[in-house]
Amino acid sequence: MIMKAETAVDINGSTQIVGVIGWPVAHSLSPPMHNAAFRHLELNWAYVPFAVPPHLVAEAIQGLRGLQMRGLNVTIPHKTAVVEYLDEVSETAQILGAVNTIVNTEGHLTGYNTDGPGFLRSLAEQDEEAADKQVVIIGAGGAARAVALAVARAGAGQLAIVNRTISRAQQLASLINQHTALSEVAAIGLDTSEAAEMLSSADIIIDCTPVGMHPHENVPPVVPAQWLRPHQLVCDLTYNPRQTVLLSAAQQVGARTMDGTGMLVHQGTIAFEHWTGQSAPVSIMRQALLEALDRMPA
Ligand code: NAP
Repeated sequence: MIMKAETAVDINGSTQIVGVIGWPVAHSLSPPMHNAAFRHLELNWAYVPFAVPPHLVAEAIQGLRGLQMRGLNVTIPHKTAVVEYLDEVSETAQILGAVNTIVNTEGHLTGYNTDGPGFLRSLAEQDEEAADKQVVIIGAGGAARAVALAVARAGAGQLAIVNRTISRAQQLASLINQHTALSEVAAIGLDTSEAAEMLSSADIIIDCTPVGMHPHENVPPVVPAQWLRPHQLVCDLTYNPRQTVLLSAAQQVGARTMDGTGMLVHQGTIAFEHWTGQSAPVSIMRQALLEALDRMPA
């Protein structure tokens, strides 16, 4: 079988290299997405995945300087570990203590976190917004932290963090209280009557847990269907599968839904813009991502 080449152009002495570090990283959907964008815009750039074990993170970042690469994405488990090796970190990435995009400007490395802004762009794309809305976030891990900060700063009217481990919900709520104009962020345990009440009255529910992710698609949704309402927007950050048990339950009650692919595309479009200074070809990147997702094990 002949595979379609995924490099941007013929590699030559002028090719700009960017990529992603993670451990493991073979599953990353970013290479097809960014290389499709480079091909489309005829940019002499290439995006390469690098599997970097945790004990070599410092050397990998130093290598970015040495090889004069334009930048890197950073994925699990290195998002926090890279921070100490950078020259500068955006305010958002500093608050979150996590970087997913590094830009190398003549040896000066700046770290950003594009996950939260990526989520907001995916909302806007569906003509939705968080401003003045009652938002409930389920989960308190890395993705929940990024999304909670973004929706709070986008002017959410009320915010509640619902998590299995209540102490982690409390920590995230206090982080958001500390860094945003929201005066009170609720922290609630999952499977409590308070959670049922909060979820039933929410305008926007955002599932930031891996519940329903491949290969465990057929588990009960993290929010029982009887807590969902037709007026709601229900978002699931999981993108494999796109149609999760939660989104199916939400559609059955007549709610609007948003899957995790929009956030994934847009954390990438923002990184692309940081590196190239050009507008990202969003539809090309989305198409490449969806095609790569289709090739993943179902
Ligand atoms: P994480 O840091 O490990 O956090 C996972 C969170 O989910 C924790 O709050 C955990 O609760 C909760 N959780 C895990 N299993 C659970 C269960 N069985 N029932 C109830 N709660 C459960 O993970 P993450 O990095 O935030 O990622 C979370 C999800 O978001 C993953 O599916 C990931 O693929 C997705 N994601 C998507 C994008 C995107 O661009 N679409 C970006 C980032 C992440 P405890 O605190 O109690 O352990």
